[in-house]
Amino acid sequence: MKTHRSAETSSATKNASAHLQWRRTKIIATLGPASQKIATIEKLLQLDVNAFRLNMSHGDHDSHRQLVSRIRRTAKRLDKHVAIIMDLCGPKIRVGKFENDAIDLEEGTKVVITSRQVIGKAGLISSQYRQLHKDARPGERILLDDGNLELKVSSIKDTEVHCNVIYGGLLKNHKGMNLPDSLLSTPSFTAKDKEDALLAVQADVDFIALSFVRNAADVQTLQRYLKKQNAEIPIIAKIEKPEAIDNIDEILEASYGIMIARGDLGIELPAESVPLLQQKLIQKAREYDRPVIVATQMLESMIYAARPTRAEVGDVANAAIGSADAVMLSGETASGKFPVKAVETMDRILREIENHQWQNKSFGQRIAESSKGEFPVREAVARAALNLANDLKLQGIIIPTRSGTTARILAAARPSAPCIGVCSSEKVNRSLALHWGVVPVQVNEPSTHDWRALCTIISDKCNLTQSGHTVLLVSGFNHDPQLNEPVMKILQV
Ligand code: PEP
Repeated sequence: MKTHRSAETSSATKNASAHLQWRRTKIIATLGPASQKIATIEKLLQLDVNAFRLNMSHGDHDSHRQLVSRIRRTAKRLDKHVAIIMDLCGPKIRVGKFENDAIDLEEGTKVVITSRQVIGKAGLISSQYRQLHKDARPGERILLDDGNLELKVSSIKDTEVHCNVIYGGLLKNHKGMNLPDSLLSTPSFTAKDKEDALLAVQADVDFIALSFVRNAADVQTLQRYLKKQNAEIPIIAKIEKPEAIDNIDEILEASYGIMIARGDLGIELPAESVPLLQQKLIQKAREYDRPVIVATQMLESMIYAARPTRAEVGDVANAAIGSADAVMLSGETASGKFPVKAVETMDRILREIENHQWQNKSFGQRIAESSKGEFPVREAVARAALNLANDLKLQGIIIPTRSGTTARILAAARPSAPCIGVCSSEKVNRSLALHWGVVPVQVNEPSTHDWRALCTIISDKCNLTQSGHTVLLVSGFNHDPQLNEPVMKILQV
């Protein structure tokens, strides 16, 4: 099998499998006790982690503030653009504490879940969700501990929900509880989320991830709350409820991007439905030019082991083949034994796949047909850029951008050439770090008078081309489509 090397492949690579200068699929690492030291953050940044996630289910505000400051300082020192995503916990329902920290649930026996705030014991589970007895109905399932244990509601008396144990096992303090068959009355934006969102504003994070989103109204509630604080932080809607799948178009319209939160999604829906849903959601997000993150259990076994299972390697590879913008590590980097190795492993898998896609010219596959049934200008320009990148074997698409919109539109098309987002705003550059194939480059206000000079400077800076090569410049999209004035120029630098 022949491998062809291109200007974008790294000359430092000695083996046959040369790799691309920039990994296209972005990596998000969740920070936690295993990775919060500056030295570890530095190592992760050197491996080109593109975004850090702060999980608000753990840690206090002081520790999160400290993490934000560590990330910002280290990224500045290393001259890296890295986004920070604050992930709000939302109405995650958990069981309370038990007298001896756990109870054994035996298949075929009965158990009561109470919404009274008491300590649980054999036959009695407390839930901190006070509406439980109002929302659950006889015949519905209640899943515990990531769906490992299953109960079925038999009857409800006052605050007590009587259940039969369908699949038993050990239930420990504070394990998660899912009610996949019930319509929950709790808002997806909780009192704790409000406090955490205030911290997000103060700490100036780049994205807020909103858990258990059901519809656009959930996203708009958070947007309104941020507006009251005079803040506008892009929102990533976590897709983990069946209702969110039904309302995906309005959710994509309302939010900046989505996260396929496979942990809860695979509990709320049959786990076997998640792989195809993942593919559909990636395609859908691209139709709306929205970034899409694939999350949870990607290299789960690396929480304890230095090497992943082959199935996990396949899962990461599949997300890249399926064209996700980003893949996310959770416990692997937050609390695992091998946070740096997990990122190294993910990076290697993604590069292997992308190198293959580059060699085989399978980057840049369009989404089959926009289900929106229209062919707007942005779609046409993105298609043209895609074809030019292939036909002219471009090494880079240079995208001077103010708001980041043009870079986002081009990235959603997945062109074979990297999208060099050239922007004077550090904040916009950090947000572009999340998008597939975008390389953010900081400049002073990009001159709109001399595109050729700009392209020459950027090509040099990014080691893009040898002299005389061609680059494509695309600019002029605005988040207000009325103001769109797209420009495409093919330039020799
Ligand atoms: C998930 O459920 O997959 C997820 C990412 O959310 P969390 O880690 O907050 O449960």
